[in-house]
Amino acid sequence: MFEARTWKTFRSYEPLGQRVGVALSGGKDSLVALHLAHRYLPPSTELVVISIDEGIEGYRPTTLDEAKKHTEELGLEHVVKTFKEVYGVTLDEIVKVSSRCSGDKDPKAFSPCTYCGVLRRHLLNRSAHELGLDSLITGHTLDDETETILMNYLRGDLGHLMRGSPHPPKKPGFVPRVKPLREAPQKEVTLYALLTSLHPAYVECPYAHLAVRNQYRELLYNLESWDPGVRYSMLRAYDQIVKALRAYYPSPPLNRCHSCGEPTLHTLCRACTLLEKLHLGSQGAEA
Ligand code: SF4
Ligand code: ZN
Repeated sequence: MFEARTWKTFRSYEPLGQRVGVALSGGKDSLVALHLAHRYLPPSTELVVISIDEGIEGYRPTTLDEAKKHTEELGLEHVVKTFKEVYGVTLDEIVKVSSRCSGDKDPKAFSPCTYCGVLRRHLLNRSAHELGLDSLITGHTLDDETETILMNYLRGDLGHLMRGSPHPPKKPGFVPRVKPLREAPQKEVTLYALLTSLHPAYVECPYAHLAVRNQYRELLYNLESWDPGVRYSMLRAYDQIVKALRAYYPSPPLNRCHSCGEPTLHTLCRACTLLEKLHLGSQGAEA
């Protein structure tokens, strides 16, 4: 049932193109997505795996080892990009700089996940472009998707709400995302990983407890236990609503970020804005 549902989701994204990327962190969700993609896609597809090393001591090296092991087993090309090489700074260093800048005593006042998420997405898109990929598969699950929908909805962030839709119109500069697990609850993905002996490493990011989305996750878990299936209905409703919204709010034209050249609605993209905030320079130490 799990695999049949995934194949159906894959089919809804077709055509994926000739050169397809998989964003692999080495955690269970992305490992399951990689193995399913490897089985689903025709052998003629060039599958390229991209991992991002944010520089999180005691966590990322373990998951990257896992990513490397699985990529080698499948005989695939594996590209690893690091925050340090591209932005000149690791996430651990950002956390130090940021707490020094803000002088915050309360660790919850700053969420490393904001920097981590924005920079990771920025780097993934940039790398997917450099590698000439037609689409990029990610391991987002039903849990991730519904948390994001709820978060954007409650914040009244219509722009992000619409951008999360499964099949947004193609935009120049953005490599289309494919989410084969978007209808699969996290628990099923974990069970599938165990039953298929993927043996993912169960390490947790040291900053995970600071993620804002934890609150939304808890809220949705409580709702789900009270009304089973509510997250699935929420996703279905969202997919319908977003189609209607698009007719009323056509996407505004995109600019090129003045600093890095990535597509953005503003003059500076979000990644460069965050880096500037830390006085790290906006170009990213690509050289
Ligand atoms: Fe990054 Fe937050 Fe995930 Fe850690 S928990 S890897 S800081 S997004
Ligand atoms: Zn930029």
